[in-house]
Amino acid sequence: MDFQLSDEEQAFQEAVRRFGDKVLRTNEERIDTEGRIPDEVLSAMADLGLLAMPVPEQYGGIGASSVLTELAAEEIGRGDASMATAVFFLLEAGWSTAFSLHGTEEAKQEVLPPVCRGKAFLGIASTEPTGGSDLAGMHTTARRDGESFLVHGEKSFISGTEEAKRLGGGHLTLAKDPEGGFNFLYVPTNTPGITTQRFHNMGRMGISTGGLSYQDARVPAKYLMGRQGKGFGLAMGGFSVARTYVAAACVGAAERALETGMKYIREREVFGQPLGKFEGVQFELADLWTEVEAVKWQVRRSAWLHDKYTLRGDVSHRPEVDRVVSSVKLAAPQIAFECVKRVMMWHGASGYTKDVGLERGFRGIMSYMVGAEGGLNIMRIILARELLGKEFLPYRQ
Ligand SMILES: Cc1cc2nc3c(=O)[nH]c(=O)nc-3n(C[C@H](O)[C@H](O)[C@H](O)COP(=O)(O)OP(=O)(O)OC[C@H]3O[C@@H](n4cnc5c(N)ncnc54)[C@H](O)[C@@H]3O)c2cc1C
Repeated sequence: MDFQLSDEEQAFQEAVRRFGDKVLRTNEERIDTEGRIPDEVLSAMADLGLLAMPVPEQYGGIGASSVLTELAAEEIGRGDASMATAVFFLLEAGWSTAFSLHGTEEAKQEVLPPVCRGKAFLGIASTEPTGGSDLAGMHTTARRDGESFLVHGEKSFISGTEEAKRLGGGHLTLAKDPEGGFNFLYVPTNTPGITTQRFHNMGRMGISTGGLSYQDARVPAKYLMGRQGKGFGLAMGGFSVARTYVAAACVGAAERALETGMKYIREREVFGQPLGKFEGVQFELADLWTEVEAVKWQVRRSAWLHDKYTLRGDVSHRPEVDRVVSSVKLAAPQIAFECVKRVMMWHGASGYTKDVGLERGFRGIMSYMVGAEGGLNIMRIILARELLGKEFLPYRQ
């Protein structure tokens, strides 16, 4: 066992941290207030190879391992505490992995290179107005019609709907096949028959969340992932990878909050001495740091498991992968949220201002508490299923 990053991994991590410090932190407020990530930030990410970075080189990516992608997600979560850039990054990283693994050759050649250049967006559309946790109970259908699929129904709370309209691109979409099973297919947002609606979120304002309505939108069959009717497992595999990067971004955001907090408690004097001299604050810091470190290494283990098994199509370690991934998606948003909350408290009244910027993290991380990429209780249910056995599942699967 070796906890040391390789020279290549360390150099890459440092490069992304420099990018986070120079480009993301300086644009963070703008990203939060203007409601989009500036084009120059996306171009800089593309230049560094950060967009859809796991995509193999022949389709425009850098063929990054899951560990390397996880390291980048940490740094991007640290750089833009609002989480908007992290969300853009991790959706493309996670779902381009699924696309690279299961897409047709023609679709990969057509769709992935512009995504890697920042000229198109790629996300996931599974949630519907009637719910996101009970995916098997969804209503949207994708019916085969000759060399196409006709998509009909509605998706909601989908990240990147406006970006996919503005830049081009679309979402890997999970829909029921009337002939049985589920289809998982890439649906370009600008397809005739699709309308979008923007929702008004409380946080991560730099990336849109919206609704997609499909009125028999015709999608070429070349955009199908895997085989007809067999898409559910492919989507679940994609969630497994994407959840690791969510957790990584939360670790970065937690570390950023602690750095901000440590600087503050070293400098701020109360009762004649620095705040950091008081045990009440020191103990909180020690507890938070311990939890963040523990989660960070579990997240890296999760990425390592993906490199070793998931990305090679090896499902023999699926229970272990599911346990580790759901544990990090459960723990990382909560500890990140707790770090931001505690550090806001250390700041007293100034922590409540927009100037200090902690509230951006507070609002952004909350998205991962309420549900994005799967709610916390769903992670608990997956864990319990793996620990107790499938017969303890509280619902049909
Ligand atoms: C900002 C944001 C961005 C998002 N982006 C995307 C996206 O890009 N693509 C996409 O497809 N979806 C997206 N989502 C939706 C997300 O995946 C869903 O919020 C999530 O799956 C939960 O679905 P729901 O919100 O409908 O809650 P529901 O499924 O209605 O559940 C409500 C609550 O009950 C809990 N719960 C559910 N079942 C159980 C149970 N059996 N036992 C105990 N508790 C339970 C859930 O954890 C949740 O807290 C996004 C959400 C947010 C907030």
